[in-house]
Formats: sequence, structure tokens, C-alpha cells
Amino acid sequence: MRLSHFEKLRPVCPVCRLNGRDAPLVLSVVEAEAHGDVASGILGCQACGSEFPIIDGMPIIVPEVRRFVQDNLFYLLARSDLTPAVESLLGDAAGPGSGLESIRQHVSSYAWDHWGDQDPVAFPPVPGGGVPGAVSRNLTQALDMLDDGLPDGPVLDIGCAAGRTVVDAAERLGRDVLGIDLSVPLARTGRQAVVGGQVDYGLRRIGLVYDRRTYPLSHGAEGRGDVWLCDALALPFTSGTFALAIGMNVVDCMRDPRAGLTEISRVLVDEGSAVLSVPFDWAGQVTPVEAWLGGHSQRSTHAGSPEAILDLLLSEGPLAAGSLRRTGSVGEAPWHVRLHDRSCMYYSAYLVVARKTVG
Ligand SMILES: [Zn+2]
Repeated sequence: MRLSHFEKLRPVCPVCRLNGRDAPLVLSVVEAEAHGDVASGILGCQACGSEFPIIDGMPIIVPEVRRFVQDNLFYLLARSDLTPAVESLLGDAAGPGSGLESIRQHVSSYAWDHWGDQDPVAFPPVPGGGVPGAVSRNLTQALDMLDDGLPDGPVLDIGCAAGRTVVDAAERLGRDVLGIDLSVPLARTGRQAVVGGQVDYGLRRIGLVYDRRTYPLSHGAEGRGDVWLCDALALPFTSGTFALAIGMNVVDCMRDPRAGLTEISRVLVDEGSAVLSVPFDWAGQVTPVEAWLGGHSQRSTHAGSPEAILDLLLSEGPLAAGSLRRTGSVGEAPWHVRLHDRSCMYYSAYLVVARKTVG
């Protein structure tokens, strides 16, 4: 956790926030720190006594720390120092469906798209002609749709995954950017790229066969980016903290998208903007059907149209998500998830820009 980000963003206790109170977090324990970056320590709330660990440089600032640690213990304790041959053998032994395999597959897909265009070694062609860097191109397209300038303030990148859009936004806007995610392996990979300037992941070739890709990055986001583990539905920030919120392919993955958009609205400054890319691809185990943005209830007036539902959330009316109102700019952008050398899923993501209206 970069101390500069901690001091400027002044995170608040998410437990107290749920009770409508802004209690600033304090750095109560520092066990490992270098060059203004806390690798290990504890953040504490002096109002309610809650404690939030900092591990591998990532503070875990979620309302239910105990549950998060229990659910993610394997990922939190997973080693990052496995050598390729030993990792390959352990991967074979653990087999498909294991925790290790789920980390490797997930990180392979996202790291390839986020950082594959910077890889000094060429890839085998991807089925369908996919080229890494889609998330970067989509963010460029979305930011081009921001017709007016942004107010002063930092940027929040929600669901930043392997971190590419944190770097891109910091380079393009010249502002501090905080990426947040709830996936420990992805956030770890992202922070290593954003803060450590190093890409290191296994690219899935086929089955349980992975090729280690390790290479340095040089990017212009020096000192401006960081990655924390936070919940988009309980953002640990006071209202009006950020000038821009980025949400690439994340809103449809939230367990309550409307609540997530309302939280985004809350933490934006007046006239702040949100740029969203939404492929409308739901996972039933994460988002209950009734909370999906469309994709159900085709008998109703919106006929199950996800774009129509999202527009309702971003318009004046009973379903409005806070004060976020769409500006009218929408677009479509190709996005893909590479699974292995012989498989890639393609999406058309809906791009939309919204602004926090005043009054
Ligand atoms: Zn508290």
C-alpha cells in the first residue's frame, strides 16, 4: 500500500460506513515497509475497533474481514515463489478443479489480455484472431466518449483485475489511480505489474500445461497507481472522493449491480464521471437472477433487454442508482477471454458514460 495513496485517499472503515459513519482508518501496525510502500501491516478503526490486514502490499478493506479471510485463505496463503517445473508438477498433481488450477486459469486469461501486448516474445495465434490488449483499447474508447473535462480528483478503477487500466488511466490522465478488486490472485498479479513493474504469470497452453511469462514493464504511471482489495458494494471512502470511476466488465459481475452503481455515485465528486463497459454476462452463483441487469423477465415492458435496464438505473426515476445519469454516449467494443491456445470467448461489450448530477 503506497503511503501516498493512503494519505491522499484517506480510506474510512467499511464497517462504520455501513452504519452511516465515516471513521478514518489509521495505520496501526507496520511490519514491512520500503520506499513509502507498506508490504505488511494492519489498518485499524479507532471508532469500532475493526482491523484490516495489509498483505503482499494490498490492504484488505472489506466489511467482513473474517469471512473474506476464511473464503480466500487458500489464495492469501498461496506461494508466489514456485519455480516453473515444480509448479507444473504440482499443477498436474492437483488436477482440474483444484484451487491451484482455478488461480492459474483465471490469471492466465486476464494477464494475457492486460499485458500480452507488452510481451517481448510472440504468441501463437489465438482462435478467432484475438489480439491481447482489448481491455486497454476499450478503456481508450470509453475515455474518448467523455465529452467534457473531469473535475479535479483521483480515479477509482473498480474490478481492475491484472491492472492494465490502472496504468492506462494514470498515464492518460496524469492522476492518481486506485485499482480495487476482490480476487486475491488477480489483484496480486495486478499490483506486481502496476507497482512492481513486472509481469509474471503462467499462460495456459492447453489442459494443465502452462508457459511462464516473466518480463519487465516500463510505463508512465510511476508512483500514480496502486491496487487494494475492496468491495465495490462497500467502498471504504467518504462521499465525493473520486473524479472518475472506471468499471471495465465488472458491473454485471456484482452481486447487486444497482447497489454497486449507487456506491459509485456516492464516492464521485459532483460532475464526476463513470465509464462502464458491460458485456452482460452473468454468473448465477454471484448475482441472483432478480438483480441481473436484464437477461430475465422477457414478459415485462423492457422484454429482458439489459441495455434498457441499465439505462433505467442511469436515468431519473424510481430505479435511479444514486445521482448517476447517463450522458447519452454509448458504444460497443469487442472484448475476449482467452482460455488456452485453442479456445477464446468473444464478447461485444456495451460502453456507457454517466455523470453524477448536482442538485
Ligand atoms: Zn469502524
